[in-house]
Amino acid sequence: MTPANLPEEFQQITADHQFVFACHPGVSCFTECCRELDLALTPYDVLRLKRHLQLSSSKFLEQYVIIEWDEQQLFPICYLTMIDDGRASCIFVQETGCAVYADRPGSCRAYPVGRGASKNDGGSATESLVLIRELHCRGFEEANEQTVSNYLLDQGMEQYNRVNDILLPLLQHPRIQQQVFKPSRQQLDQYILALYDLDQFRREMIAGRIALQRPLTPQQLSGLTGDDVALLSLGLHWLMQEFFGE
Ligand code: SF4
Ligand code: SF4
Repeated sequence: MTPANLPEEFQQITADHQFVFACHPGVSCFTECCRELDLALTPYDVLRLKRHLQLSSSKFLEQYVIIEWDEQQLFPICYLTMIDDGRASCIFVQETGCAVYADRPGSCRAYPVGRGASKNDGGSATESLVLIRELHCRGFEEANEQTVSNYLLDQGMEQYNRVNDILLPLLQHPRIQQQVFKPSRQQLDQYILALYDLDQFRREMIAGRIALQRPLTPQQLSGLTGDDVALLSLGLHWLMQEFFGE
């Protein structure tokens, strides 16, 4: 999105931008931002949440996620469930705050900062940042000045960004950007399995029902024995093979 067509409350910023903001249980708007929102989860969000709740990925998806897909979009989107309480509140919001705070999704951590990333030729990611000033958010009235990069660091975004960016070679593959790739039904299922339903993906791999053309590296092997981030990376490799023959 270019600066010209950003919504009014979005301001394009850089990581060294200074802003005044704090969020804590004492703000009058506490938990207002946890209602009436579309919260799309990344694979790493699901990994952290299912681990926090000590659920298998399949159970977590079944209990807490609505998966949406239609012909207009390339891949399915996993939305966190909102409850029907007249305010469309997040399923995890409580009087005292977020019930999964230590493992809350990346977009909740970063708010009121939003981040987009694109892959550049060298393989690293270039990020674009926006500051979102919504009327209900009183955190901008708190006397606490910081840079955007320090704020994101304090919110634990480094690990979230690092793992989310692993997926850029798939999500921004040249065949997607040239609009010559349209996943089949089977590939849509593979996408959810390998990126979101990690425990099931691990079972399928171990049972030999998924074949990789190249031998597993030691790091990929550790995904099969319990390292969920390594497994996510393995899932990405499988999807690149199945979608693009790489
Ligand atoms: S996950 Fe937590 S921080 Fe995010 S919207 Fe829900 S209650 Fe709020
Ligand atoms: S609306 Fe803003 S200040 Fe209020 S709880 Fe949410 S992030 Fe914090």
